[in-house]
Amino acid sequence: MTAMTPTVDKTAIGGPMVETMAGPVATSDLGFTLMHEHIIVQSEGVARNFPSVWDEQAELNKAVEMLTTLKARGVDTIVDPTVLGIGRNIPRLLPVVEEAGLQVVAATGMYYFNDLPAYFVSREIDEMTDLFVADITDGIQGTDVRAAILKCATDEPGVTPGVEKVLRAVARAHLRTGTPITTHTHAATQRGLEQQRVFAEEGVDLGRVIIGHSGDSDDLGYLTKLLDAGSYIGMDRFGLDIFLPEEKRIATVAALCRMGYTERMVLSHDACVYIDMYKPEVIEQFVPNWNYLHISDHIMPALLEAGVSQTQVDTMTRDNPRRIFENVGVY
Ligand SMILES: [Zn+2]
Repeated sequence: MTAMTPTVDKTAIGGPMVETMAGPVATSDLGFTLMHEHIIVQSEGVARNFPSVWDEQAELNKAVEMLTTLKARGVDTIVDPTVLGIGRNIPRLLPVVEEAGLQVVAATGMYYFNDLPAYFVSREIDEMTDLFVADITDGIQGTDVRAAILKCATDEPGVTPGVEKVLRAVARAHLRTGTPITTHTHAATQRGLEQQRVFAEEGVDLGRVIIGHSGDSDDLGYLTKLLDAGSYIGMDRFGLDIFLPEEKRIATVAALCRMGYTERMVLSHDACVYIDMYKPEVIEQFVPNWNYLHISDHIMPALLEAGVSQTQVDTMTRDNPRRIFENVGVY
């Protein structure tokens, strides 16, 4: 483990701060926050090798337009957990985010369901940890943008040797920096519980972890297990009805609010401007409501109708995100 160079005292001068792509902002200025959205999602390396697969400039223009609209519609911040594995490219996004004026929190970590890139197969967990820590303390991909959240993923294959390496490296980077953790899971196979087990083994306070894509499940037994272990859960795929229909997503959030778990849920869409994993016509056909404004336009009114109070909505969209980023140690 390398010695830490002290950087920012996050509690000094005017309260806690969080790093965004435009530099540090006060956590009190995070405002309405969508905790899991992407901007550009790409299969690693494909567009770099075959640039004809997309129109880069057109998609970046579209990104400026969509993020500007988002800001105008009252969304103050998005957390973008795009990392290695799904095409993180912070230098390319910087001018886009700057022009839109939306606050965007960047991430470090990795997104693989099974095998890792060969580079990491032959290296130790702590070499991976060092790279994540450098993204948090020094900046990402040669920019001054510091990561403020750690990302990892388990899907149907579960905690494979490769995935386990990433989970442990993320946990250790969290322990060294205090940066919160957010995850991708396959909720149908209850992958969140395995993530919690590995994090706990590494000594992570599970209250600093968001188990993502939990909103794909309406199994209250599974969800309350995650919650009772202390974690936040991401009800973060509104609009992705193929995984769970909207009515069930809404009913599940409402039920958990009634059960007293409002302070442990965050809301989002897992949406993006561009994603190359599916053909555009397939997205249009199967998930027509999958966009950044679906929560503002449809889900919040539906939650109110389902008995969730405005105060509870504010807790999930404002207070919880703020709390997740405030509980950061000084480093
Ligand atoms: Zn995602």
